[in-house]
Amino acid sequence: MHLKSLVLKGFKSFADRSALTLEPGITAVVGPNGSGKSNISDAVLWVLGERNAKHLRGQAMEDVIFAGSSARRAAGLAEVDLVLDNSDGTLPVDYDEVAITRRMYRSGESEYLINGTVARRMDVLDILHDSGLGTGTHSIISQGSLDSILQSKPEDRRALIEEAAGTLKHKQRKAKSERKLAQMDQHLARVRDVTAEVE
Ligand code: ATP
Repeated sequence: MHLKSLVLKGFKSFADRSALTLEPGITAVVGPNGSGKSNISDAVLWVLGERNAKHLRGQAMEDVIFAGSSARRAAGLAEVDLVLDNSDGTLPVDYDEVAITRRMYRSGESEYLINGTVARRMDVLDILHDSGLGTGTHSIISQGSLDSILQSKPEDRRALIEEAAGTLKHKQRKAKSERKLAQMDQHLARVRDVTAEVE
């Protein structure tokens, strides 16, 4: 799976429709200070379901909408389309390409689309689950969080490495299964008690 393209419209400093085609092998985006490099990674986070404006370097979610300039009116809508190449089947859907769109109006209304069909945020998160992409993962590390990672406790750093290696999700599933088993044991004990009482 790889990020194939990203289209921004009215998102932060990208007032006009801007399309980025990301062929395999592209490893960096370069540009002068303030030219919008970090806004591109903010757009990726946002379209994948980020809900915390601070993680997008803003105060309120509305800050993602182009705020206007001396030459141009503010936009009423921010839209980001992201296309993932899924020809290796990483994502659990029968499509070789998965296009995720997020729109937000200044009124606060917002919507997601998956391959052009209106979807819920939960559907986007479900598709990305297990892929290592999405909110709460470390597929995008902001400039600010680098320091905290370097200064983090060894066990926190280990969790990060486990997430990157893909073992964290198995650990979480194991813990969930163990909790369920413990719950089942309790139910079973209760059933035995009731059976004993009846007999
Ligand atoms: P650096 O190399 O310094 O980290 P950068 O290339 O990563 O810079 P960004 O932080 O992505 O730059 O972009 C910052 C620019 O985006 C600023 O000029 C800021 O005014 C502009 N910007 C951010 N949000 C909005 C918005 N909602 N509307 C218009 N412009 C915005």
